[in-house]
Amino acid sequence: MSAVGAARALLVELTGTEPDGTWSAPGRANLIGEHTDYNDGFVFPFAIGERTHVALRHRDDGRIRVVSTFDADPVEVALTDLDGLFPARRDDVAEWARYPLGVAWALIQASGADAVTLGGVDLAFASDVPVGAGLSSSAAIEGATASALNDVWGLGMGRVALATAGTRAENEAVGAPTGVMDQLASMLGEADAAIFLDCRSLETEVVELGFGPAGLTLLVIDTGVKHAHSTGGYGERRAACERGAAVMGVPALRDLSVDDLPRAQELLDDVTFRRVRHIVTENQRVLDTVQTLRAHGPRAIGGLLDASHASMRDDFEISVPELDLAVDTSRATGAIGARMTGGGFGGAAIALVPDEHVEAVASAVTASFADAGFAAPHVFPVAASRGAGRDA
Ligand code: ADP
Ligand code: MG
Repeated sequence: MSAVGAARALLVELTGTEPDGTWSAPGRANLIGEHTDYNDGFVFPFAIGERTHVALRHRDDGRIRVVSTFDADPVEVALTDLDGLFPARRDDVAEWARYPLGVAWALIQASGADAVTLGGVDLAFASDVPVGAGLSSSAAIEGATASALNDVWGLGMGRVALATAGTRAENEAVGAPTGVMDQLASMLGEADAAIFLDCRSLETEVVELGFGPAGLTLLVIDTGVKHAHSTGGYGERRAACERGAAVMGVPALRDLSVDDLPRAQELLDDVTFRRVRHIVTENQRVLDTVQTLRAHGPRAIGGLLDASHASMRDDFEISVPELDLAVDTSRATGAIGARMTGGGFGGAAIALVPDEHVEAVASAVTASFADAGFAAPHVFPVAASRGAGRDA
């Protein structure tokens, strides 16, 4: 069954009635610009075709109930109780339910709406975005929720405000210290285009990718290695970036350029310096990618993707052997550029591949994983697609 069909069926099972409507939001792939978002820098993601759908039905009792195909148990709470739940008592809520309930909470806070006057809702979720693969199933569930509630509650919030509410939910209701990139990509995506985003000003520009006309396919290689954002390395990398910015006397690493790196190397310990060097060079690579795409088209950006991967592997140290193998094998068998994408420590790589080499790359990657004794990867093409909204 399609994800939209599954969301509808789940809602019917929950309420015994048809939904009022369905909304959806896509996952995203980041073409380039990794860990630059929380450093006030630049990113260049695009929304993918895989989406999380939510079927919605109003209720008259001011309560919100969420259910997902991921979890048999619905979670229900009064809208007026959300304020007491987040962030202080979030541990009382099943982890997955903090995403949609956190978005409801953040929307009420941001819009200034009185929770007493808002209608209750039942929300049933189903998704075809792979979870924990670096394709941001979290932004997809947040975006679907934000888009649906904004419409049915008549909040009149714009897309950037909805994205920001999703980020707040993820930071404060879930407890994952992520930036705003994923949510903005999921909200603002357009067919065959990526979103050039300045994470400081939140200014965005839609930039045509032109992969199809250039005979290129973007393959995702999901290694199946799970990452966990709320714990571990992600927070440690963030702390290193903050430390580097403090020593360098700038508000954020965004304010450094490659010309500042020699001074950074003098002032910082080796590990912090390499973290800083990744961010500074990655910001420059995002700018170069946008400029190269416009001037020379998508076949010219391969080297920038490769350099991004090397920087994440060697300087930021967030790759894993499965991601390195996916990237190296793709490059060796016809990809014009490849890199890990997402927060790292697992998840997916992307490879930009001429159409005629897609099958060779996919089967070589699968074979190389078998040879290395790794679990079979999931290799599939993604296409830049439209952002969140009501389903037709
Ligand atoms: P990613 O965003 O890279 O897929 P995250 O760890 O950020 O990985 O988010 C994944 C989490 O989001 C899941 O573990 C689950 O809690 C929640 N989630 C995402 N999609 C759904 C869904 N359709 N139903 C329920 N929970 C979901
Ligand atoms: Mg996520």
